[in-house]
Amino acid sequence: MVNLCVQTVDEASKYLASRNNILIITHKSPDGDTVGSAAALCLALRSLGKNVYLFGNRGFTKNQNAYIKSLCAGEDFTPECVCAVDIADIKLLPGGAEIYVDRIDIAIDHHLSHKSFAKRLILDTNAAACGEIVYKIIKNLGIPITAEIAEALYVAVSTDTSCFLNSNTTAETHRIAAELLSHPFDFARVNREFFIVKSRERLDIETRLLSGMRFYMGGKVAVIVITHDMLRETQADEDDLNNIAALARSVAGVELGILIREREENECKVSMRSSEKIDVAKLCERFDGGGHSRAAGCTVKLPCQETEKTLIEALKEYPMFAEDTEELTV
Ligand code: AMP
Ligand code: MN
Ligand code: MN
Repeated sequence: MVNLCVQTVDEASKYLASRNNILIITHKSPDGDTVGSAAALCLALRSLGKNVYLFGNRGFTKNQNAYIKSLCAGEDFTPECVCAVDIADIKLLPGGAEIYVDRIDIAIDHHLSHKSFAKRLILDTNAAACGEIVYKIIKNLGIPITAEIAEALYVAVSTDTSCFLNSNTTAETHRIAAELLSHPFDFARVNREFFIVKSRERLDIETRLLSGMRFYMGGKVAVIVITHDMLRETQADEDDLNNIAALARSVAGVELGILIREREENECKVSMRSSEKIDVAKLCERFDGGGHSRAAGCTVKLPCQETEKTLIEALKEYPMFAEDTEELTV
Protein backbone atom coordinates (compact mmCIF):
# COMPACT_ATOMS: atom_id res chain seq x y z
CA MET A 1 0.00 0.00 0.00
CA VAL A 2 1.46 3.34 -1.03
CA ASN A 3 1.32 6.55 0.97
CA LEU A 4 -1.63 8.11 -0.78
CA CYS A 5 -2.00 11.83 -1.38
CA VAL A 6 -5.55 12.79 -2.33
CA GLN A 7 -5.65 15.69 -4.75
CA THR A 8 -8.13 18.40 -5.64
CA VAL A 9 -8.53 19.49 -9.28
CA ASP A 10 -6.27 22.46 -8.50
CA GLU A 11 -3.56 20.33 -6.87
CA ALA A 12 -3.65 17.72 -9.61
CA SER A 13 -3.47 20.43 -12.28
CA LYS A 14 -0.49 22.10 -10.59
CA TYR A 15 1.23 18.77 -10.15
CA LEU A 16 0.84 17.82 -13.84
CA ALA A 17 1.90 21.32 -14.92
CA SER A 18 5.08 20.93 -12.86
CA ARG A 19 6.11 17.66 -14.59
CA ASN A 20 7.60 16.83 -17.95
CA ASN A 21 8.08 13.55 -19.88
CA ILE A 22 4.68 12.23 -18.89
CA LEU A 23 3.31 8.81 -19.79
CA ILE A 24 -0.46 8.37 -19.69
CA ILE A 25 -1.79 4.84 -19.21
CA THR A 26 -5.28 3.66 -20.24
CA HIS A 27 -6.95 0.56 -18.81
CA LYS A 28 -7.04 -3.01 -20.08
CA SER A 29 -9.78 -3.59 -22.69
CA PRO A 30 -9.91 0.17 -23.24
CA ASP A 31 -13.25 1.95 -23.62
CA GLY A 32 -14.03 5.41 -24.95
CA ASP A 33 -13.66 7.03 -21.52
CA THR A 34 -10.11 5.90 -20.85
CA VAL A 35 -9.07 6.58 -24.47
CA GLY A 36 -10.80 9.95 -24.80
CA SER A 37 -9.57 11.13 -21.39
CA ALA A 38 -6.00 10.07 -22.13
CA ALA A 39 -5.95 11.61 -25.62
CA ALA A 40 -7.43 14.91 -24.39
CA LEU A 41 -4.99 15.16 -21.46
CA CYS A 42 -2.07 14.30 -23.72
CA LEU A 43 -2.99 16.96 -26.31
CA ALA A 44 -3.67 19.56 -23.62
CA LEU A 45 -0.35 19.01 -21.81
CA ARG A 46 1.48 19.00 -25.15
CA SER A 47 0.04 22.43 -25.85
CA LEU A 48 1.98 23.61 -22.78
CA GLY A 49 5.16 22.48 -24.58
CA LYS A 50 5.51 19.24 -22.64
CA ASN A 51 6.72 15.88 -23.81
CA VAL A 52 3.68 13.63 -23.28
CA TYR A 53 2.80 10.20 -24.68
CA LEU A 54 0.21 7.48 -24.25
CA PHE A 55 1.20 3.98 -23.30
CA GLY A 56 0.78 1.70 -26.37
CA ASN A 57 -2.18 -0.32 -25.09
CA ARG A 58 -2.50 -3.39 -27.36
CA GLY A 59 -6.26 -3.39 -26.87
CA PHE A 60 -7.02 -0.13 -28.74
CA THR A 61 -9.80 -0.78 -31.26
CA LYS A 62 -10.27 0.58 -34.81
CA ASN A 63 -12.76 3.20 -33.61
CA GLN A 64 -10.34 4.31 -30.93
CA ASN A 65 -7.28 4.49 -33.19
CA ALA A 66 -8.50 7.77 -34.65
CA TYR A 67 -7.97 9.34 -31.23
CA ILE A 68 -4.62 7.70 -30.50
CA LYS A 69 -2.96 8.32 -33.87
CA SER A 70 0.53 9.65 -33.22
CA LEU A 71 0.22 9.94 -29.45
CA CYS A 72 1.74 6.59 -28.43
CA ALA A 73 5.16 6.39 -26.83
CA GLY A 74 8.04 4.74 -28.67
CA GLU A 75 10.23 2.06 -27.08
CA ASP A 76 12.86 4.65 -26.17
CA PHE A 77 10.58 6.93 -24.13
CA THR A 78 11.57 7.07 -20.46
CA PRO A 79 8.85 8.78 -18.44
CA GLU A 80 9.54 10.93 -15.41
CA CYS A 81 5.87 10.97 -14.49
CA VAL A 82 3.31 8.19 -14.99
CA CYS A 83 -0.41 9.02 -14.98
CA ALA A 84 -3.26 6.46 -14.96
CA VAL A 85 -6.67 7.50 -16.33
CA ASP A 86 -9.95 5.69 -15.59
CA ILE A 87 -8.09 2.80 -13.93
CA ALA A 88 -9.99 1.52 -10.87
CA ASP A 89 -7.52 -1.13 -9.79
CA ILE A 90 -3.87 -1.92 -10.51
CA LYS A 91 -5.07 -5.29 -11.91
CA LEU A 92 -6.55 -3.34 -14.80
CA LEU A 93 -3.21 -2.09 -16.12
CA PRO A 94 -2.91 -3.15 -19.77
CA GLY A 95 -0.53 -5.90 -20.88
CA GLY A 96 3.07 -4.67 -21.03
CA ALA A 97 2.52 -1.94 -18.43
CA GLU A 98 3.40 -4.19 -15.49
CA ILE A 99 6.75 -2.39 -15.13
CA TYR A 100 4.81 0.65 -13.89
CA VAL A 101 2.93 -1.20 -11.13
CA ASP A 102 4.81 0.59 -8.32
CA ARG A 103 5.50 3.70 -10.30
CA ILE A 104 2.18 5.42 -10.91
CA ASP A 105 2.62 9.02 -9.82
CA ILE A 106 -0.97 10.12 -10.25
CA ALA A 107 -4.28 8.36 -10.89
CA ILE A 108 -7.28 10.26 -12.26
CA ASP A 109 -10.42 8.21 -11.67
CA HIS A 110 -14.16 8.19 -10.97
CA HIS A 111 -14.86 4.60 -9.85
CA LEU A 112 -16.65 4.12 -6.54
CA SER A 113 -14.64 0.94 -6.06
CA HIS A 114 -11.25 2.58 -6.70
CA LYS A 115 -8.49 0.66 -4.93
CA SER A 116 -5.63 3.08 -4.51
CA PHE A 117 -2.32 2.23 -6.12
CA ALA A 118 -0.86 5.60 -7.16
CA LYS A 119 1.16 8.11 -5.12
CA ARG A 120 -1.45 10.77 -5.82
CA LEU A 121 -5.15 10.27 -6.52
CA ILE A 122 -7.82 12.57 -7.83
CA LEU A 123 -11.08 10.67 -7.45
CA ASP A 124 -14.53 12.09 -8.18
CA THR A 125 -17.15 9.38 -7.88
CA ASN A 126 -19.87 11.84 -8.91
CA ALA A 127 -18.25 12.33 -12.29
CA ALA A 128 -20.09 10.30 -14.93
CA ALA A 129 -16.80 9.84 -16.77
CA CYS A 130 -13.14 10.34 -16.13
CA GLY A 131 -13.40 12.78 -19.04
CA GLU A 132 -15.27 15.20 -16.75
CA ILE A 133 -12.29 15.34 -14.37
CA VAL A 134 -9.82 15.74 -17.23
CA TYR A 135 -12.02 18.55 -18.61
CA LYS A 136 -11.79 20.33 -15.23
CA ILE A 137 -8.01 19.91 -15.09
CA ILE A 138 -7.65 21.35 -18.60
CA LYS A 139 -9.89 24.32 -17.71
CA ASN A 140 -8.04 24.84 -14.43
CA LEU A 141 -4.76 25.07 -16.33
CA GLY A 142 -6.30 27.67 -18.65
CA ILE A 143 -5.51 25.52 -21.69
CA PRO A 144 -7.66 26.42 -24.71
CA ILE A 145 -9.92 23.54 -25.74
CA THR A 146 -9.29 22.77 -29.40
CA ALA A 147 -11.78 20.87 -31.58
CA GLU A 148 -9.53 17.81 -31.27
CA ILE A 149 -9.53 17.97 -27.45
CA ALA A 150 -13.29 18.62 -27.41
CA GLU A 151 -13.94 15.55 -29.57
CA ALA A 152 -11.78 13.30 -27.38
CA LEU A 153 -13.56 14.52 -24.24
CA TYR A 154 -16.94 14.06 -25.92
CA VAL A 155 -16.05 10.45 -26.71
CA ALA A 156 -15.10 9.96 -23.04
CA VAL A 157 -18.26 11.50 -21.58
CA SER A 158 -20.68 10.04 -24.10
CA THR A 159 -19.22 6.54 -23.73
CA ASP A 160 -19.62 6.25 -19.98
CA THR A 161 -23.15 7.63 -20.05
CA SER A 162 -24.17 5.50 -23.09
CA CYS A 163 -24.75 8.74 -24.96
CA PHE A 164 -26.32 10.54 -21.96
CA LEU A 165 -28.86 7.80 -21.27
CA ASN A 166 -27.56 6.31 -18.02
CA SER A 167 -28.44 7.40 -14.50
CA ASN A 168 -24.87 8.62 -13.88
CA THR A 169 -25.57 11.53 -16.29
CA THR A 170 -25.86 14.79 -14.34
CA ALA A 171 -26.57 18.44 -15.05
CA GLU A 172 -22.81 18.94 -14.85
CA THR A 173 -22.28 16.24 -17.51
CA HIS A 174 -24.62 18.17 -19.81
CA ARG A 175 -22.96 21.51 -18.99
CA ILE A 176 -19.59 20.05 -19.93
CA ALA A 177 -20.99 18.40 -23.06
CA ALA A 178 -22.66 21.69 -24.03
CA GLU A 179 -19.34 23.49 -23.88
CA LEU A 180 -17.65 20.72 -25.86
CA LEU A 181 -20.31 21.03 -28.56
CA SER A 182 -19.48 24.72 -28.96
CA HIS A 183 -16.25 23.57 -30.64
CA PRO A 184 -16.27 22.58 -34.30
CA PHE A 185 -16.21 18.78 -34.36
CA ASP A 186 -18.73 16.42 -35.88
CA PHE A 187 -20.51 15.04 -32.80
CA ALA A 188 -23.23 13.47 -34.94
CA ARG A 189 -20.56 11.39 -36.70
CA VAL A 190 -19.13 10.35 -33.32
CA ASN A 191 -22.60 9.33 -32.12
CA ARG A 192 -23.26 7.44 -35.32
CA GLU A 193 -19.94 5.58 -35.11
CA PHE A 194 -20.13 4.75 -31.43
CA PHE A 195 -23.85 4.37 -30.74
CA ILE A 196 -25.94 3.91 -33.86
CA VAL A 197 -24.26 2.06 -36.71
CA LYS A 198 -23.96 -1.71 -36.37
CA SER A 199 -21.68 -3.86 -38.47
CA ARG A 200 -23.03 -7.07 -40.04
CA GLU A 201 -20.77 -8.96 -37.63
CA ARG A 202 -22.38 -7.12 -34.71
CA LEU A 203 -25.85 -7.95 -36.02
CA ASP A 204 -24.86 -11.59 -36.33
CA ILE A 205 -23.50 -11.90 -32.80
CA GLU A 206 -26.35 -9.83 -31.34
CA THR A 207 -28.88 -12.16 -33.00
CA ARG A 208 -27.19 -15.17 -31.44
CA LEU A 209 -26.96 -13.52 -28.03
CA LEU A 210 -30.63 -12.49 -28.09
CA SER A 211 -31.84 -15.93 -29.08
CA GLY A 212 -29.59 -17.63 -26.51
CA MET A 213 -30.37 -15.25 -23.63
CA ARG A 214 -31.22 -17.07 -20.41
CA PHE A 215 -33.53 -15.62 -17.80
CA TYR A 216 -33.47 -16.29 -14.07
CA MET A 217 -35.24 -15.06 -10.96
CA GLY A 218 -38.60 -14.73 -12.65
CA GLY A 219 -37.12 -12.71 -15.50
CA LYS A 220 -35.32 -10.17 -13.32
CA VAL A 221 -31.91 -11.48 -14.35
CA ALA A 222 -30.76 -12.07 -17.93
CA VAL A 223 -27.52 -13.76 -18.93
CA ILE A 224 -25.71 -13.74 -22.27
CA VAL A 225 -22.50 -15.63 -23.01
CA ILE A 226 -19.88 -14.89 -25.66
CA THR A 227 -17.60 -17.84 -26.40
CA HIS A 228 -14.46 -18.04 -28.55
CA ASP A 229 -16.44 -20.21 -31.00
CA MET A 230 -19.05 -17.48 -31.40
CA LEU A 231 -16.39 -14.88 -32.13
CA ARG A 232 -14.77 -17.15 -34.71
CA GLU A 233 -18.07 -17.94 -36.38
CA THR A 234 -19.31 -14.35 -36.53
CA GLN A 235 -15.89 -12.73 -37.08
CA ALA A 236 -16.90 -10.07 -34.55
CA ASP A 237 -14.00 -8.03 -33.15
CA GLU A 238 -13.72 -5.60 -30.21
CA ASP A 239 -15.25 -2.75 -32.20
CA ASP A 240 -18.25 -4.94 -32.95
CA LEU A 241 -18.63 -5.75 -29.24
CA ASN A 242 -18.71 -2.13 -28.11
CA ASN A 243 -21.22 -1.75 -25.24
CA ILE A 244 -22.67 -5.21 -25.90
CA ALA A 245 -22.84 -5.78 -22.12
CA ALA A 246 -25.90 -3.50 -22.10
CA LEU A 247 -27.89 -5.94 -24.28
CA ALA A 248 -29.21 -8.17 -21.48
CA ARG A 249 -30.40 -5.22 -19.41
CA SER A 250 -32.37 -3.83 -22.34
CA VAL A 251 -35.13 -6.43 -21.91
CA ALA A 252 -38.30 -5.32 -20.07
CA GLY A 253 -38.41 -6.55 -16.48
CA VAL A 254 -34.67 -7.25 -16.28
CA GLU A 255 -33.06 -5.68 -13.20
CA LEU A 256 -29.67 -7.21 -13.81
CA GLY A 257 -28.02 -8.01 -17.13
CA ILE A 258 -24.95 -10.22 -17.07
CA LEU A 259 -22.49 -10.77 -19.89
CA ILE A 260 -20.09 -13.68 -19.49
CA ARG A 261 -17.21 -13.63 -21.91
CA GLU A 262 -14.93 -16.64 -22.34
CA ARG A 263 -11.30 -15.56 -21.98
CA GLU A 264 -9.51 -18.86 -21.47
CA GLU A 265 -10.74 -22.40 -20.93
CA ASN A 266 -11.07 -21.75 -17.21
CA GLU A 267 -11.50 -18.01 -17.07
CA CYS A 268 -14.34 -15.64 -17.87
CA LYS A 269 -14.69 -11.89 -17.88
CA VAL A 270 -18.02 -10.86 -16.39
CA SER A 271 -19.77 -7.56 -17.07
CA MET A 272 -22.84 -6.57 -15.11
CA ARG A 273 -25.32 -3.81 -15.85
CA SER A 274 -28.21 -3.04 -13.53
CA SER A 275 -31.36 -0.99 -13.98
CA GLU A 276 -32.29 0.54 -10.64
CA LYS A 277 -31.99 -1.64 -7.60
CA ILE A 278 -28.81 -3.66 -7.56
CA ASP A 279 -25.40 -2.22 -6.74
CA VAL A 280 -23.31 -4.26 -9.17
CA ALA A 281 -20.02 -2.73 -7.96
CA LYS A 282 -20.67 -4.36 -4.56
CA LEU A 283 -21.70 -7.63 -6.20
CA CYS A 284 -18.58 -7.70 -8.39
CA GLU A 285 -16.38 -6.86 -5.40
CA ARG A 286 -17.39 -10.24 -3.98
CA PHE A 287 -15.59 -11.73 -6.99
CA ASP A 288 -12.59 -9.44 -6.57
CA GLY A 289 -13.82 -6.98 -9.20
CA GLY A 290 -15.53 -3.62 -8.98
CA GLY A 291 -16.77 -0.63 -10.98
CA HIS A 292 -19.78 1.62 -10.64
CA SER A 293 -23.16 0.99 -9.02
CA ARG A 294 -24.88 0.38 -12.39
CA ALA A 295 -21.92 -0.97 -14.42
CA ALA A 296 -19.24 -3.21 -13.02
CA GLY A 297 -17.07 -6.18 -13.86
CA CYS A 298 -14.98 -9.02 -12.51
CA THR A 299 -13.02 -12.05 -13.62
CA VAL A 300 -14.12 -15.53 -12.59
CA LYS A 301 -11.64 -18.37 -12.90
CA LEU A 302 -14.13 -21.00 -14.10
CA PRO A 303 -15.51 -22.16 -17.46
CA CYS A 304 -18.54 -20.22 -18.78
CA GLN A 305 -21.30 -22.56 -17.56
CA GLU A 306 -19.88 -22.79 -14.04
CA THR A 307 -19.34 -19.05 -13.94
CA GLU A 308 -23.04 -18.60 -14.73
CA LYS A 309 -24.06 -21.08 -12.03
CA THR A 310 -21.79 -19.45 -9.44
CA LEU A 311 -23.13 -15.98 -10.15
CA ILE A 312 -26.77 -17.11 -10.00
CA GLU A 313 -26.05 -18.89 -6.68
CA ALA A 314 -24.60 -15.65 -5.29
CA LEU A 315 -27.76 -13.79 -6.31
CA LYS A 316 -29.97 -16.05 -4.23
CA GLU A 317 -28.75 -14.20 -1.15
CA TYR A 318 -30.46 -11.05 -2.38
CA PRO A 319 -33.94 -10.78 -0.82
CA MET A 320 -35.43 -9.44 -4.06
CA PHE A 321 -34.40 -12.65 -5.82
CA ALA A 322 -34.90 -15.14 -3.02
CA GLU A 323 -38.26 -16.46 -4.20
CA ASP A 324 -37.83 -16.70 -7.94
CA THR A 325 -34.82 -18.79 -8.76
CA GLU A 326 -36.01 -20.87 -11.69
CA GLU A 327 -34.49 -20.51 -15.10
CA LEU A 328 -36.89 -19.22 -17.72
CA THR A 329 -36.05 -19.70 -21.33
CA VAL A 330 -37.57 -17.75 -24.17
P1 AMP B 1 -16.95 -3.60 -18.07
O1 AMP B 1 -18.05 -4.51 -17.71
O2 AMP B 1 -15.64 -4.28 -18.26
O3 AMP B 1 -17.31 -2.65 -19.16
O4 AMP B 1 -16.71 -2.70 -16.78
C1 AMP B 1 -17.70 -1.91 -16.20
C2 AMP B 1 -17.06 -0.98 -15.20
O5 AMP B 1 -16.49 -1.75 -14.13
C3 AMP B 1 -15.90 -0.18 -15.81
O6 AMP B 1 -15.95 1.12 -15.29
C4 AMP B 1 -14.68 -0.93 -15.37
O7 AMP B 1 -13.58 -0.08 -15.22
C5 AMP B 1 -15.08 -1.57 -14.05
N1 AMP B 1 -14.46 -2.88 -13.89
C6 AMP B 1 -14.53 -3.93 -14.75
N2 AMP B 1 -13.84 -4.99 -14.30
C7 AMP B 1 -13.29 -4.62 -13.12
C8 AMP B 1 -12.44 -5.27 -12.17
N3 AMP B 1 -12.02 -6.53 -12.33
N4 AMP B 1 -12.08 -4.56 -11.07
C9 AMP B 1 -12.50 -3.28 -10.90
N5 AMP B 1 -13.31 -2.62 -11.74
C10 AMP B 1 -13.70 -3.26 -12.85
MN1 MN C 1 -13.42 2.74 -18.51
MN1 MN D 1 -14.88 5.59 -16.90
